Amino acid sequence: NDMSGENRVVLVTGASSGIGEATARRLAAEGYHVVLAARRTDRLGAIVEDLRHAGHSAESRALDVTDRAAFQTLVDEVIAVRGRLDVLVGNAGVMLLSRLDGRQVDEWDRMFDVNVRGLYHGIAAVLPHFRERGTGHVVTMASVGAHEVPPTSAVYSATKFAAWALTEGLRVESGPGVRVTTICPGVTESELADHITDPHAAEFMVDYRAAAIPADAVARAVSFALAQPADVDVNEIIVRPAAQR
Ligand code: NDP
Repeated sequence: NDMSGENRVVLVTGASSGIGEATARRLAAEGYHVVLAARRTDRLGAIVEDLRHAGHSAESRALDVTDRAAFQTLVDEVIAVRGRLDVLVGNAGVMLLSRLDGRQVDEWDRMFDVNVRGLYHGIAAVLPHFRERGTGHVVTMASVGAHEVPPTSAVYSATKFAAWALTEGLRVESGPGVRVTTICPGVTESELADHITDPHAAEFMVDYRAAAIPADAVARAVSFALAQPADVDVNEIIVRPAAQR
């Protein structure tokens, strides 16, 4: 076993598919104890079974990140059982693309609920423990959409700008023991685009997403940030397909 995980405990939200799943699999293989959280517990259970079969340390937990109390309870339970929580990977997210004049306000609310509130629920839940121990690491899954706003992406990009700001704000306010990393993926293989309801946005995504890189390409970026020595804080990584413009 690669020892770089050193028994550190990592909570990954949205670990049931795509980037979260790839991140959980990679970190478990590197020796971290990984807590996989999402709503689809059947999917989590199958992944955890796989990982344990391979001799890795992992567990699955049901979590809807929009439920603030449930998020705190989960974090408290992990800390009670494992004695520590070293890393939060705030990865859970939805991308419901459409033009502003389509006025899909319910979908805008949904994106803010999951991508922004779901993220700060996690930060709020782990901060007391991080402060008490004087150490911890928050990894946020933002997007290239935190740097650019293509048509149909206004609200989605707004949630990713928010994720970027939350992560940077945490860095500025925290002592040197708390590290933060914003990962900004480009087009990556996952189920993210499957939930788009706007037919024009969905149609556009077919060609746009053809250049997608495997989710493990993003997982490697997470792994890199976590593997740095305690005095090195990797704050942002943009990783996109070489073919993406
Ligand atoms: P997927 O749709 O494959 O994965 C999204 C994950 O989020 C799932 O595990 C889903 O689990 C979880 N999730 C959604 N809603 C909730 C909720 N309310 N509570 C808990 N978990 C939830 O897409 P990706 O892997 O692509 O997405 C992961 C992150 O990466 C997102 O934040 C996305 O914005 C970001 N990203 C992705 C890019 C890409 O091209 N793929 C590019 C840039 C950023 P479940 O449904 O079981 O709850």
